[in-house]
Amino acid sequence: MKNNTIFIPKKIIGEIISHSLNNDPNESCGVLQGSGVIVSKFHPLKNIHENPQNRYTFDPVEHLNVEKKSDEEGEEIIAIFHSHTHTQAYLSETDVKNALMSGYIQQFYIIVSLVEKTRPVLRAYRISDQGDITEIIVDFDGPKYISR
Ligand SMILES: [Zn+2]
Repeated sequence: MKNNTIFIPKKIIGEIISHSLNNDPNESCGVLQGSGVIVSKFHPLKNIHENPQNRYTFDPVEHLNVEKKSDEEGEEIIAIFHSHTHTQAYLSETDVKNALMSGYIQQFYIIVSLVEKTRPVLRAYRISDQGDITEIIVDFDGPKYISR
C-alpha cells in the first residue's frame, strides 16, 4: 500500500470515535499501533493538559508503556491521534509546532472533529520536517459508500 494511505480497520475507527465522544467537551488523545501503513490497535491515552478543552498532552507513563508494548509485539506506533471538540478536522498551527518540537514526524496524524456531534469527521495527515501538511487517504475494510 502506498505511503499516501493509512489503513484503519472499521472496528478501530469506531473505537476512536467512541473515545472522542466519551471525553467531549475535552480533547481526547491516543496512539495507533501497527506496521507500515496498517493499523492494528488503538491505545487511548489520558489527556493530562491543564486546558484539555483546547489542548492535549499524553500521560507520559501511559505513552511509554504503550510504546514498549507495541515494540514487544514487533510493531510500532504509526499514528498519533487527538480530537477537536469545537474546530474542524485540520491540524492547527499548535499541532504542527508540537509535532516539530516533539520530533514525531515519522507518524501519521489522525484528527477527529466533533463540531457536529452526530457526524464526527476523521481525517489523516502527515507533517514534513518543514512543517508542511499533506492529507492522507484513510482506507478501511468493508464496503465504501460514496455520497453524491
Ligand atoms: Zn489539534
